This record gives sequence, C-alpha cells and structure tokens, in this order.
Amino acid sequence: MLNITHRICLSKNSKKIIKKYWRNRRGVLDAHSWNSINNRVKNDISKKSLKNQGFKCVFCQRYLYGQSPELEHFANKALYARFSFNPINIFYSCHFCNSTDRKGILNTILIYNNRYDQCMFSILHPYLDDIDAQLIYQDEDKVLFDWLSCSQRARDTIVSLILDDPIMSNIRSRDLLYQRLNPLTSISENELIQLSIAYK
Ligand SMILES: [Zn+2]
Repeated sequence: MLNITHRICLSKNSKKIIKKYWRNRRGVLDAHSWNSINNRVKNDISKKSLKNQGFKCVFCQRYLYGQSPELEHFANKALYARFSFNPINIFYSCHFCNSTDRKGILNTILIYNNRYDQCMFSILHPYLDDIDAQLIYQDEDKVLFDWLSCSQRARDTIVSLILDDPIMSNIRSRDLLYQRLNPLTSISENELIQLSIAYK
C-alpha cells in the first residue's frame, strides 16, 4: 500500500461549490451526492489525487496506466455519504484492487464517528496510518510479508485485500522493479493524469 504523507488541497472554487451543495441539502448528503456534484469538483479531486499518488494504485502500488484507474471512496460513499467529498477519503486504485473480492465495496469503518479522522478503520488508511511502520516485508522487493513484525491492523489489511496471494505478490514485485528501472518523468506523469481524469 502507498504511504501518503501529503494531503491534497482543493481549489477555492471546489470548496465554494461543495459548501453550496451542503447548504442546499441542509447538511445531508446521500448516495447520489458524489454523482450529482459539478464535474469540476470531481476533476479537481481526481487530478490532484493522481498526482499525489505518483500515478500509482494506492493498494498494489503499480503504475495506473493501462490498468483502468478507478477513483474510489475508502469509506464507501453509499454507506457513508457525508464523507463523499472529503479529499482524504478518495483515492485511485487499479481495477484489480477495486474488484468486489478485494477492496470493492468493503465496509472499512469499524467504529463510526461524524468526524472522519475519528472513525476507527478496519484496514490501514493511506493518509491516517503510517503504512511503512506497520506493513512490513521480509524483502526489498516486497514479495513476502513479515507477519510477526506487522501490526494487527496490517495483518487484517493483508487478509481483506488478499495482498499475499501469488497473483498480487507477483504484480507488486514486478511493478516495483519496473518502476525502479523506468521512473515516470514529471512530463509523462502530467500527460497521463490529463488522459486519466475521471470526469470529462
Ligand atoms: Zn492495484
């Protein structure tokens, strides 16, 4: 998983649109709120998230080009609509990691709180947890997990996202090697981001 240390900052215009949206709905969002907000807001989040993640899947860390990048809400937007526009609840993942038997519609909140950062999550959170301190590998290539050194929530994350199956282990090690040999330049990254933003 990616360990994301910097949070994205929405544009003034996006904040204004979101504020107005909340006001019009008297502070109650629903499962359709994300779909009905102006595309400019979604693309602002989309573009900045891709950049912030270095154009990599938040779960398996592979480059997103050619992988049908998907914008996904860490806490499911149908279950927790109030967090629909919270930038630290929104990530990009590849289609494989976001499939229904992996992250998909997994309910990631164990104990709910109206304040997002006070919720207790069932799996590691890329912004709120120090992933690198909890999800420990036996080797540099990130093939095998060091289960004894992983925290309990890291182990729960491995199990929930099936990060240790041979397919995922193979994807992870192959892609990390590829990235070391072929780092994205900022120019190609910007071009790819423009091509991949979610809402045209
Ligand atoms: Zn992935």
